[in-house]
Amino acid sequence: VKIIDEATLDLFRVPVPCEWCKLRPSTDPHHIYAKGMGGGGRLDIRINICSLCRTCHNGAHAHGDPHITELLRIVSRREKLPVGTILDRIYELRRLPKGAALPDWMAT
Ligand SMILES: [Zn+2]
Ligand SMILES: [Zn+2]
Repeated sequence: VKIIDEATLDLFRVPVPCEWCKLRPSTDPHHIYAKGMGGGGRLDIRINICSLCRTCHNGAHAHGDPHITELLRIVSRREKLPVGTILDRIYELRRLPKGAALPDWMAT
């Protein structure tokens, strides 16, 4: 698990298949938990991002299809982490005060 920046986000924009439909190329890195809900740029991490095609990305935002639980399952398989661990880490980041030290699991 690494902190990622714009350059790393670009990796999610290379034309690999959408992680949900696997039909169309993925073009849209989607934040499972929106950055505006607390956590800010700290949520630019692999465990919070799914690579979706435009259609699936629109569906996720417009009517929860794919649903957040399905996206978490995708990340769980990709990162080889239990969904509970992913949620614990995301909630931890959202609770962290601005300027607080980052948790150890974010280092490299
Ligand atoms: Zn798709
Ligand atoms: Zn999105």
